[in-house]
Amino acid sequence: DLEINKKRAKWFIGINLIEEIISLFIIFKIVEMAAIGKILVGDTVAYIDSLSTIQSNVGGFLRNLSEIYNDILYVEQFYKLLDLEIKGYEDRTIEIEEIKEIEFKNLNYTYEGSESNTLNNINIRLEKGELIGIVGENGSGKTTFIKLLCGFYDNYQGEILINGIELKEINPDSLRKRMGIIFQDFNKYEMTLRENIGFGNIEEMDNDKKIIKSLEEINLKDKTDKFKEGIDTQMGKWFAGEELSKGQWQRIALGRAFMRDADVLVLDEPTSSLDPISEKEIFLLMKEKSNGKIGIFITHRVENIRELNPRIIVFSDGKIVGDGNHQEMVEKCEEYIKLLDI
Ligand code: ADP
Repeated sequence: DLEINKKRAKWFIGINLIEEIISLFIIFKIVEMAAIGKILVGDTVAYIDSLSTIQSNVGGFLRNLSEIYNDILYVEQFYKLLDLEIKGYEDRTIEIEEIKEIEFKNLNYTYEGSESNTLNNINIRLEKGELIGIVGENGSGKTTFIKLLCGFYDNYQGEILINGIELKEINPDSLRKRMGIIFQDFNKYEMTLRENIGFGNIEEMDNDKKIIKSLEEINLKDKTDKFKEGIDTQMGKWFAGEELSKGQWQRIALGRAFMRDADVLVLDEPTSSLDPISEKEIFLLMKEKSNGKIGIFITHRVENIRELNPRIIVFSDGKIVGDGNHQEMVEKCEEYIKLLDI
């Protein structure tokens, strides 16, 4: 934004300056001609009057130009984004068919530009068939842990092993296909309902049955059946489509994750926009869908997941400070007990 504003300010000052210089020059010429008697006083007034009309027209034209220039600056940003190189893809050649086990060994992670470690000496192993609740205060590192697990960052120290293979050697596409994740800041696409769900598994975009099944699972079919164009209905406000509540958009994000035949399902703090009944439904649905897989819930409210009886991993200040079931955590993990009161 700063870069764009600087460029815009330069352009704006430049145009105004040119406009003022030209006007001054013309006025000077008119007055000069009047002074040497080349034109009469009446002509002088008429010229200066018409000058101000021309000035406002030219000003309008230049303002339009400056708006176009402004848009070009934003489009430029978009092309810069498209031109970004995808790093390190070539050495990541191992394809995985199924995720059976994920292990973090002596893992430390610092965000670029941060001074201290965001994650400190993480050692943990997650296995197929486990339902896991990751709990901890806001900022304790839960989301960062998940982002690393998904392979978003590879500048970590230590090891992340998927089925015993170092993550940095695994083809990112084959890894992503095996994971279904709903982040807090899930996306809502101003596109059709089909696309909103189908982006979870692009190969199945034209599979109406699968998309409708996904809508059934997230309990939205009754609502979307009323849409005139069915699953091809435009969604969102931008293009005058159907608008949904925040909670319903969240369900769509869930449906998108379910489109994938994933081995790891992650739900990051999904409850902020849901009423308690929908919240419970979504948790139970996630539990059912992750049966026999690795199912991970992230929350800062222990109450949300207690009923599901998961294996609980407690994060505090970038470290794992507890690992076990609810009863074990109540007996020996102070940070967990503190979270019970939230
Ligand atoms: P949680 O999910 O437990 O709320 P996060 O993993 O989001 O915690 O954040 C852990 C810490 O890392 C916080 O101090 C946060 O400010 C910092 N952090 C998160 N994302 C970034 C980022 N992209 N760049 C720099 N610091 C970040």
